[in-house]
Parts: sequence; C-alpha cells; structure tokens
Amino acid sequence: MISIGIDIGGTFVKFIAINQNGKILKNTKIPTNIKLTAQGFIKEISSVVKEWQKDFKGDNFVIGMGVAGDTDNTKGILHFAPNIPWHNFKIVDMLEKETGNTCYACNDANVAAWGIHEYEFKKKYKNLMVITLGTGVGCGLIVDGKLYQGFSGSAGEFGHIKVDYSKSALKCACGHKGCLEAYIGTKGLKKQMEKAVKLAPKSVLAKLLKEKEFAIKLLSDAAKAGDKNALKIWHNFGYCLAVALSDAVLLLNPEAIILAGGVAQGSKYFTSAMREVFDKQVIKRPFKDIKILVSKQKDIGALGAALYALSKQNEK
Ligand SMILES: [Zn+2]
Repeated sequence: MISIGIDIGGTFVKFIAINQNGKILKNTKIPTNIKLTAQGFIKEISSVVKEWQKDFKGDNFVIGMGVAGDTDNTKGILHFAPNIPWHNFKIVDMLEKETGNTCYACNDANVAAWGIHEYEFKKKYKNLMVITLGTGVGCGLIVDGKLYQGFSGSAGEFGHIKVDYSKSALKCACGHKGCLEAYIGTKGLKKQMEKAVKLAPKSVLAKLLKEKEFAIKLLSDAAKAGDKNALKIWHNFGYCLAVALSDAVLLLNPEAIILAGGVAQGSKYFTSAMREVFDKQVIKRPFKDIKILVSKQKDIGALGAALYALSKQNEK
C-alpha cells in the first residue's frame, strides 16, 4: 500500500508518497492554478497522481488531501476556503473518479496536526494544539490521542477567531473583520512591514525589503539585526496569537502548543510575548507548564495527509 498525501494551499499544491511504514518515497510541488475551474484543477492534480501510479506499478494506492479551508471530512466536500476559489465542491468524489483510488480529505491544519502527532512527536503528547502559521492561520487538535474534527469537520478554524472588535479592525480574507489571521497571516504581516518602512525608511528592514524579494524571513533577519520596528511587529504577533490561544487553552487544557508552517521559524522573536500573555492569566495551572514548541518537519501538510489516509484505511 502506498499513500499519496496532497496538501492544497493557496499558493502551492504539495505531493508526497509514503509506504505503509511512513517512509517517504517521493515528493513534488506545483503552483495552485486558481484560474482553472474546479474540474480543471482536479485534472491537474490527478495527472501527478497518475504519473506516480506508473512509477509504483503494481502497488495499491490511497490518497489523502489536506485543504486550506472548511472541508467536510465525512462527505468529502470543500465548503469554503478564503484563499482558494472553488467552494462547495465534491473534491473527494471528483478525485476518486479521476484516479480510481479511495480518497480522503479534511482541513489542512487537521492533517498537519495528525502528521506532527504521529510522525514528529511519535505520540508523545495526547493533548495537542497545532497552530499552522502562513498565508492562513489554522489549527489542528489532538484530544486524548485522537484527531478532533468536530461535528461537521470544521473544528480548528482558529485563524477566524476575533481578536479585534473595534471599528478600525482589519479586514480578513474570509470577509469578516478583526480575525486573528488578518493580524498574523503573511498578508497582514506584509502590510505591517510596509507601514514600518514608510515610518523608518533608513531602517534595516527598509534596506532588506528594498534589496531582496519579499519574504517573511526578512522580518526575522531585521529583528536579528536589532531593528526596533521588526521586533515590535514580532512582539505584536506573539501578543495577538497568545490572546486568541488563551481562550482556547482555557477551553481545552492542552499539554503542548506546536507552531508549524513557514512563519513559525520566527518563533524566537515572538514566543516571549506569548509567555507574557500567558503569565498574566488569572487561572494559572493550564498555562504554567504548557509547552510551546516549533515543528521541524518540512511539508508536514502533505505528509500528514498521507498519514491521515493510511490511518483511515487501517480503520476499515
Ligand atoms: Zn477571517
């Protein structure tokens, strides 16, 4: 049995193939072509799967998809995704018809959480919150060693928790105002960086943004060089994240919070701000010993999707 994991994000679609023991056999990525119809998009990702099926001739396949949006894991429907244009479409049915394999789909942060729990931490923690930090801000929950997906598979829409109810609250890609993602997603960070550069055109951050292609890493590079505005943006990042997390921690009492995704690599500049918020909590115990860790696993979305499909297939 070979499991193919597909991580469908707003910018890239990443693929990974693993065997029954979780050994990675192959991986690749293609840009997410949002100009295609849903059908055209399925055909495009199917062509990668079909090519791999030829490479692993004679094996049985199962496919797992992690989708950056509200995805019904039982019905296999992608309902809504802020950064992907195809809504209310039967993503599982379409891919099954196109490839002839059994497919599973759920939210990308959910499969990332499953991958981190199974692969990276080898089931060390039974109660985990995995926060994915990138264009979008997602969350996957491991409760008592199991992936918690909620009644309709919508659990973990953490990026759309409100952190600002004021009139000047920032607009989010989902259409609402004041969502956490509008403040700490990469689009929100980019706006803050541009604003900082206008205020301090001779700063390290301004110099880096002028010389290099835009990347969130530049914010870390500027912070490393002691750029005050960059440090302030990271501090605000940690503060906003922890404000939203505090409510979730009171609700769920996790043992560890795992930060994943590209933006998590800036963690050394924002986890102290998170601790400041946690330390101010009145109910101390859920916050006192909670671990804040960073996932080191690259492409955990695709790997998690492949592991998720394997676990679903083994449940049968
Ligand atoms: Zn939102």
